[in-house]
Amino acid sequence: MDSHASAGPQTVAPLLKGQKALVTGANSGIGKATALALGRAGADVVVNYVAGREAAEEVVAQITAQGSRAAAYEADVSREDQVTAMVDRMVEEFGTIDILVANAGLQRDAAFTEMTLAQWQKVIDVNLTGQFLCAREATKEFLRRGVVPEVSRSAGKIICMSSVHQIIPWAGHVNYASSKGGVLMMMETLAQELASKKIRVNAVAPGAIRTPINTDAWDTPAAEQDLLKLIPYGRVGEPEDIAHAAVALASDLLDYVVGATLYVDGGMTLFPGFATGG
Ligand code: NAP
Repeated sequence: MDSHASAGPQTVAPLLKGQKALVTGANSGIGKATALALGRAGADVVVNYVAGREAAEEVVAQITAQGSRAAAYEADVSREDQVTAMVDRMVEEFGTIDILVANAGLQRDAAFTEMTLAQWQKVIDVNLTGQFLCAREATKEFLRRGVVPEVSRSAGKIICMSSVHQIIPWAGHVNYASSKGGVLMMMETLAQELASKKIRVNAVAPGAIRTPINTDAWDTPAAEQDLLKLIPYGRVGEPEDIAHAAVALASDLLDYVVGATLYVDGGMTLFPGFATGG
């Protein structure tokens, strides 16, 4: 087993030079790794957070040390006024937005009959409505600016952070699985609606990634062994595995990829239970 190994090369070519990226929930886990990777790829980065200001400032310092510009913006992605203000501020201070990684998300788990309306609503508000609001505000700026060929072949790129649970049902997590199922159809609909405007909308669907959202699933050897039964590739994912997929989707290398979900899951969606004949 190889679960603590590095997720691969930590540098990427400056594929995104001159581009301005907003990553929501970028002070932790996948969002943090994505913000850092976008910075290494040459983009200037707005690091969104809702509560963890210090952690966000640390990410900003790391991106700045890598040679890109960065700033931490506080905003609750589920609040329309705060999302509008965040994108307006980014356009004012950074000039525009070229890349949105709609990553902020959370879980509020409960057995179905125990799940409160508040738990249901919170997860839908942040995971689904939050992506809708951020995508809408970013798209307004993409449309206003249009394509700048020296910067990118498209007018803007939206990357929705989904999950394997956009297609795998998940008992005890009906709010979360429903939010990600919604992200799938939202992403595909936006991709269809915006492609003619040269805006590319795609998603990354992580499998089990080692972050604070799912500590219980990997932080003891027994839990990790259990989890690995679901992962043919034999290791838990690292945040950088997802970050590198987001950088690729944001770059012109993948300019013809529109409305796709890139599953980054070590094979979790390959029905591993059937690997030995079912
Ligand atoms: P994480 O480490 O817990 O990070 C979640 C991030 O979301 C934090 O930065 C948090 O900010 C932010 N956030 C929460 N509510 C917010 C709000 N209302 N407004 C703005 N930001 C908010 O979890 P993660 O694993 O990196 O998760 C990132 C994304 O990946 C989520 O969409 C999750 O569903 C998805 N994903 C994760 C896995 C996995 O195995 N880890 C698998 C599939 C999908 P604060 O710290 O400031 O609260």
